[in-house]
Amino acid sequence: MEALYCACCGRPFKRAHQRGPAPLYCSRDCRRQIEVRRRTWTAMESVGARAFQEGRGEIRAVAVGW
Ligand SMILES: [Zn+2]
Repeated sequence: MEALYCACCGRPFKRAHQRGPAPLYCSRDCRRQIEVRRRTWTAMESVGARAFQEGRGEIRAVAVGW
């Protein structure tokens, strides 16, 4: 029997189905948590990228103000 460790909480679990790719999470809750986290990261990344692009203009504006 294959020992798997949840990518979310790190708990060992057994895979329920032998077909298909090995599951990464011990439960649906863990899977959902990672999905929520990943969505937050993606949102943060896009906001960060936009802030970086806008930041160039902002820095110039601040420099002019000084
Ligand atoms: Zn888990």
